[in-house]
Amino acid sequence: MVIGIDLGGTNIKSGLLDSSNSLVFDQSRPTGSTLDEIVNNLAEIIDELKDRAKKEYQSAVTGVGIGVPGVVSKGLDHVFKCTNLGWHDIPLKELLSDRAGLPIFIDNDANLAALAELYIGSLKGVDTGLLLTLGTGIGGGVIINGKPYRGSNGLGMEIGHMVLGENFFDCSCGKNGCFETFSSATALVKYYEKLLSDNSVKSSFEVSAKNIFVNARAGDKLSFEAVDRTATYLAMGIVNVINILDPAVIALGGGMAGSDGFLLKMTREKVKKNLFVKGFPSAKIELATSGNQAGTIGAALLVREELEII
Ligand SMILES: [Zn+2]
Repeated sequence: MVIGIDLGGTNIKSGLLDSSNSLVFDQSRPTGSTLDEIVNNLAEIIDELKDRAKKEYQSAVTGVGIGVPGVVSKGLDHVFKCTNLGWHDIPLKELLSDRAGLPIFIDNDANLAALAELYIGSLKGVDTGLLLTLGTGIGGGVIINGKPYRGSNGLGMEIGHMVLGENFFDCSCGKNGCFETFSSATALVKYYEKLLSDNSVKSSFEVSAKNIFVNARAGDKLSFEAVDRTATYLAMGIVNVINILDPAVIALGGGMAGSDGFLLKMTREKVKKNLFVKGFPSAKIELATSGNQAGTIGAALLVREELEII
């Protein structure tokens, strides 16, 4: 068995993956705040899951995979930057290794969600593919030649910070015009609020990305305008990726992707209109299918990938 841990800004999700890549146990607990507290929580989780594997499944754990919402070294051991946790230059593997007594591998959470899609989801069997996670920001994980691609320095791919044009507010990274300031759930809400203010009107519903979609579908003009802009820039980002990578599949995941297929349909139409080479096969745009546990499953699969036991 292998342990998968999805370290988020609010909660740590974790679980046990059996030899057929099924998540047989999963749990969640608060992340904690200081580095010491978080490292301690991770060490406790690893101990608990080792015990559980032994007692309930009569199985030994062969390794631990950890996904973090940040930039990780290519050696899969060091967290360079993790804004959510306020981490900079943290030797996470070193901090955990002695206590865990197991091989530990760390990676960016979007890369691991893409790995989960590759093994059990919408990127299954795909040679070149991309997972875009649309939530409070935009994350991206890319598969090339059937393997996660991390670039030369581990910095790929921070697609949420690809600059698409000038925007009316700055990104959390300090730049202006990043992809995630146009097409994330946060961006949708901000643009809808700007439309309200520009038109000197108040919203007829409680403002959230979900409610903006519901009202856009029901014909509310400003909601539709906000969703349309989100889809326009999402399509622009996707067409850029198609022009560079020509992937077989681009999967959309994260809280905003579902929206009853509304965003997917609009985005597909806009991508089709903006393709460089029209009328020939190009990337299929699909919804991600590995669900809420993709981060935990992907983290566990990383152990299998690195120890080559798949
Ligand atoms: Zn940015």
